[in-house]
Amino acid sequence: MQGCPIDREFRAMKGKQVSNFISTLPKVELHIHFEGSVWPTLLAGIVKDRGISSGEQIRELYRFGDFPGFLQAYRRVNELLSRPEDFYHIARAIARRLAGQRIFYAELTYTPLLHTRQGLDHDETMGCILEGFKAARLEGKCPRINFIYDTARQWGSEAALETVELATGDLDSGLPVVAFGVGGDELSAPARELEEAFLLAESRGLRKFVHAGELGEAGPVWEAVEILRADRIGHGIAAIKDEKLMKVLAERQIALDICLTSNVLTGAVKSFTEHPWMELIKAGVPVTLGSDDPGFFGVWLEDELKKAVQTWNLDAGLVGQLIDNGVRYSFLSAKEKKAWGPG
Ligand SMILES: [Zn+2]
Repeated sequence: MQGCPIDREFRAMKGKQVSNFISTLPKVELHIHFEGSVWPTLLAGIVKDRGISSGEQIRELYRFGDFPGFLQAYRRVNELLSRPEDFYHIARAIARRLAGQRIFYAELTYTPLLHTRQGLDHDETMGCILEGFKAARLEGKCPRINFIYDTARQWGSEAALETVELATGDLDSGLPVVAFGVGGDELSAPARELEEAFLLAESRGLRKFVHAGELGEAGPVWEAVEILRADRIGHGIAAIKDEKLMKVLAERQIALDICLTSNVLTGAVKSFTEHPWMELIKAGVPVTLGSDDPGFFGVWLEDELKKAVQTWNLDAGLVGQLIDNGVRYSFLSAKEKKAWGPG
């Protein structure tokens, strides 16, 4: 966009002007978890009749200091979602929140087994989620949303296969499921354990989304690429430690979903300024920007964009590129990408 007056205007903007400009931009959110989007006051409203009434009790549920602590907090919050109608309220609230940031398309990662293992019926909870979106849509406050069904790596291969079956069944029923994925504790099991599930997902027409390289070394990112044949990678920032891997990601156009605040708050990186995403971009690795778990980290995509602009003094060209990447590396069909994106 060099030479465009908007770029010159954007570069000259300061503070609140930048914030206001970003607020007006249409956006795409590819890395956001349904279960991680339940924010404290939303949860408080849902569980007020379940013995949790004080703000301090709610804050305690969300407290964590590192990555294992974050996974525990995630489980604590989700254990409280015990009724199908909870999912209606959450879906409606998330849709409104996304639309409020001018997000026109989102890929929402959903973990069905987190709920079926608590005795909830998958069809019923999904039915409630879709009703929640419908209610938001009728208010004019729901973007286009596709689902990525994911499993937790620590649950092993059986859970992964079960999740693929649920994703396939829903896809066949016409639900907007576009991909199968894996998240959770990436150091808990090697990719080989999940290979069968990813191959099955691919054979059923699902795209593949792998959380890897959030913590630790580049090895799990290599495995995501070579063994699980990931179409897109959640985080993947450990790729910075391996030049050959960065080259492969660039050549094969496998994008990394970068979630800045998430990485700082879970301790994956020490501070914003130490985050390696700019070096990844310079190496030609495609990246998108996502919020990950806004309910826990307190930031949504719009906040992440503003934080990135302030911390790295991004110009309008790069902000535009990040938003374009949201379409380019999404799991939308080629036809839809052409209609919505940069081509
Ligand atoms: Zn994630």
